[in-house]
Amino acid sequence: MKIAILSQDASLYSTRRLKEAGEAQGHDMRVINYLRCYMNITAHKPMVVYNGQPLENFDAIIPRIAASRTFYGTAVVRQFEVMGVFSANESQAISRSRDKLRCLQILAREGIGLPVTGFAHDTQDIDGLIKTVGGAPVVIKLLEGTQGIGVVLAETHQAAKSVIEAFRGLDANILVQEYIKEAASTDLRCFVVGGKVIAAMKRQGAEGEFRSNLHRGGKAEKIKLTPEERSTAIRAAKAMGLSVAGVDLLRSDRGPVVIEVNSSPGLEGIETATGLDVAGKIIEFVAKKATNGAPRDRIQ
Ligand code: ADP
Ligand code: GLU
Repeated sequence: MKIAILSQDASLYSTRRLKEAGEAQGHDMRVINYLRCYMNITAHKPMVVYNGQPLENFDAIIPRIAASRTFYGTAVVRQFEVMGVFSANESQAISRSRDKLRCLQILAREGIGLPVTGFAHDTQDIDGLIKTVGGAPVVIKLLEGTQGIGVVLAETHQAAKSVIEAFRGLDANILVQEYIKEAASTDLRCFVVGGKVIAAMKRQGAEGEFRSNLHRGGKAEKIKLTPEERSTAIRAAKAMGLSVAGVDLLRSDRGPVVIEVNSSPGLEGIETATGLDVAGKIIEFVAKKATNGAPRDRIQ
C-alpha cells in the first residue's frame, strides 16, 4: 500500500516511527510536508502537487497537522478526501478537535463527563462566572493554548478575578473550569485507534506543578484503565469523529472527566511509557480501512 504521512518534519519522533512501522509492514511510506503542497481545486481532476509532481495513487494518508497550521493542513487533508484517498482522521474531525470549546460542547451533548466549565470573552460579571463553576479554586485556560501553556490554577476568588481580568486585557477567549483537586496533578492519556483503547498512560506533574503535561516536566507510566475510563475515552473519540485520538481524562470523585481530545497525539511519551508499538497499531488500522474503502462517520 502507498501511504503518505503529512508532517512538517520527517525527523520528529512520531513521524519517524510511523514511517518505520509502515515499512516494517511492507508499505511504501512517504513523508509529505503539507505546507509545501499546492492544490488544484477543479472538479474534473482534483490534485495535490508536491515538489513539482502530482501526488497520485496514494491509498491512505496519516495527517500529523501542527496546531498552528490547522487551516492549511486540513485543507490539504480535505483535498485528498476529495480525491477519494482514505485519511486516518478526517479533515472535519481535526478542525473540530482543535477548538477546545467546540470539543467540550460536542462532548457535553453526548453526555460525556466533563469538569464544570464556563466560557467567556469580555464579561463584566467575573464574580458570576467564577460562581457558575462552583467558586475558587478554579482552573483558567486560554482557548488557544497547547502543551499546558495558558493553563492557570487560581486558588482563591481574588486570584481568579485577577487572572480573568488580565486575560480579558489580552482580548482572549477563556475557559473557567472547576479544579479537580482529587486528580492530584495526574491525568490519563488514552490512545484510541479505530474505536479501541490501544495504550494508556498516567502522567504525573512535576513537584509543585498541577499540570501533568510532559512538556511541563511531568512523568509518565503505564496504567490499566477501569472499564468506565475505557468506555469514556472511546465515546469521546467517537463523538469527535476521530479514528486516531489521544483522550485526556482526569479521575474525579464522580468518575472520569474528559479535559481534551487530541487529533495528533504524540507517540514518544506513550511508546516509551508502555513499551507498545503504537505506530504499528495505527498503520494496521489504516491499511485495513483503506482496503475496505469504509464509509466514514460524519458529524457536523
Ligand atoms: P493543554 O491543552 O494546554 O495541555 P489542558 O487542558 O490539557 O491544556 O491542561 C493541562 C494540564 O492541566 C492537564 O494535563 C491537567 O494535568 C491539568 N488540568 C487541566 N484542567 C484541569 C482541571 N479542571 N482540574 C485539574 N487539573 C487540570
Ligand atoms: N501534538 C503533539 C505531538 O504530536 C503531542 C501533543 C499531545 O499528545 O499531547 O507531538
